Amino acid sequence: MSSILVLMAGALRLDDNPALLAACKSGRPVLPVFILDQEIAGTWAVGGARRWWLLQSLIELDERLKAMGSMLVIRSGNTCDIVGALLRESAAGAVYMNRLYSPSGRKLQETLHETCTAAGVECRRFSGNLLLEPEQIVTKTGKPYEVFSPFWRQAKELIGTLYPYDAPSDIPSPPVWPESSSLDTLGLEPKPAYWAKPIAKVWQPGETTALERLDYFLDEIASGYAGARDVPGVDGTSRLSPYLVDGEISVRRIWAQSLAAADANPLASNGIHAFLRELGWRDFSTHLLFHFPEMPERPLKANFNRFPWQHGEGDVVTSWQKGKTGFPIIDAGMRQLWQTGWMHNRVRMIAASFLVKDLLWHWRDGANWFWDTLVDADLANNSASWQWVAGCGADAAPYFRIFNPVLQGEKFDKHGAYIREFVPELAALPDAYIHKPFEAPREVLEAAGITLGKDYPVPVIDRKASRERALAALARTKG
Ligand SMILES: Cc1cc2nc3c(=O)[nH]c(=O)nc-3n(C[C@H](O)[C@H](O)[C@H](O)COP(=O)(O)OP(=O)(O)OC[C@H]3O[C@@H](n4cnc5c(N)ncnc54)[C@H](O)[C@@H]3O)c2cc1C
Repeated sequence: MSSILVLMAGALRLDDNPALLAACKSGRPVLPVFILDQEIAGTWAVGGARRWWLLQSLIELDERLKAMGSMLVIRSGNTCDIVGALLRESAAGAVYMNRLYSPSGRKLQETLHETCTAAGVECRRFSGNLLLEPEQIVTKTGKPYEVFSPFWRQAKELIGTLYPYDAPSDIPSPPVWPESSSLDTLGLEPKPAYWAKPIAKVWQPGETTALERLDYFLDEIASGYAGARDVPGVDGTSRLSPYLVDGEISVRRIWAQSLAAADANPLASNGIHAFLRELGWRDFSTHLLFHFPEMPERPLKANFNRFPWQHGEGDVVTSWQKGKTGFPIIDAGMRQLWQTGWMHNRVRMIAASFLVKDLLWHWRDGANWFWDTLVDADLANNSASWQWVAGCGADAAPYFRIFNPVLQGEKFDKHGAYIREFVPELAALPDAYIHKPFEAPREVLEAAGITLGKDYPVPVIDRKASRERALAALARTKG
């Protein structure tokens, strides 16, 4: 009986893994394989912080497989060449995988499918990483949705109840395993290397922790999610995003378990449904990327090609990256990102708006920075969200709506808990000035031990002038 290669990319889990389960159910020997193909991803090869995450996740997956008498066959290089070599080395007769949706992932899977089929090797793609496949949902005129609300109205009906698969109880092994590279030869150390320590203090990658976090979220957090999701100073969201990027947890599992939790506890239902709507945004962003593969590079609204975005290096942008803009909520967010590889969604919106509207920098520069620093860097979510903030995406926030970082801070971080954690030099300021130290009277600053320009920066821009500049730039996109 010939073996089946199961390509694990995009679904680094045992639970609800349709490709793995189908292979195991066939009764044939199964070889779980992970190939690191940085070349095909091009500009979007795994980013700095995400490298650390991926490495830890692969270590965990390998351990889980070994506990079941199987293992992860690891290789790096050109996927098609490696699959060809593995088919020969292991006399395998089939290749199974779960669908990928990024432009490079799709191209790769199509090429593999053609090559395998031409060689008489069975090649099957399964659906396991979205709530709905992109082909399953279109507008009345047969076009892809570009506006979230109607998409979500229809999506909820189509999704209905989901029945995720349990992990296989047995993974039949081949008589001989092909050679596997050691994980530390993959070159997945984070860049810069010292990132590993602070990020490891906050995160534990892998399927086991993902499933535990889902349970914890549904038991302890979900009932208050609708209100707390916008408050960066509390643990009020699922923090499942990094586990979803490469499928350490199945979105279908999250959906099914969340609905069961809402049934069991009607008081949590409101919060849980607000949470499921966010998972809807994930599907929506992936569908956009599927239908508009140019999304990471070009504005979806063509008139924004005329927008005078700025590019290049600059002190002001460096101050944004390092969290030294003089606007506390932005600085707290950018420092949270640097120190933990993650930033709260509300603050992502405020910090991104500041870059693209107040500083007029290209949204792609922001997206690139996030790509390198986020442990949840995801091509669909990142580019759709940056385009949303920049006003040039599908269903985007209107460009003229420019977040005021002081008002946003006062509204969502009322007592400055988030600022006090990530911008400790401001910790002694009273609530009234924690979001605007530049307006604090001299005696208040003195009492808090702060000299502006020395202990904490003065604002890098005059927001009144930058707002006018942004609106003038917007006028260039019209007509
Ligand atoms: C400028 C910008 C860049 C972003 N880049 C990314 C990115 O690279 N990767 C990423 O996963 N998310 C990105 N987001 C979306 C969002 O900020 C994160 O998904 C969220 O903060 C993750 O935290 P959580 O898991 O606790 O979210 P929860 O609030 O618990 O939401 C549950 C899940 O829903 C999905 N989700 C939530 N909000 C969004 C959204 N706005 N768009 C798409 N999916 C969403 C995520 O998969 C998330 O894990 C970005 C948002 C902005 C404004």
